[in-house]
Amino acid sequence: MPLYEYLCETCGQKYESYKRLTDENKEEACPACGGRAVKTGISLFTAKGSSPGNGSSCGIGPRRSPFG
Ligand SMILES: [Zn+2]
Repeated sequence: MPLYEYLCETCGQKYESYKRLTDENKEEACPACGGRAVKTGISLFTAKGSSPGNGSSCGIGPRRSPFG
């Protein structure tokens, strides 16, 4: 199960949350303030060769590339 990283647009809280594939596209609520949170990344226990492949350009927070 993938562990997604979220950033709250309201209070700036960063947190991680497990999501099922069926919940992946649902809106995420910040656990701190209940505001809307955006997905900023994904944390996997094992690095696989697949790329996220989503062309979203949020521009929020530092962009981390697995390839440096
Ligand atoms: Zn919040």
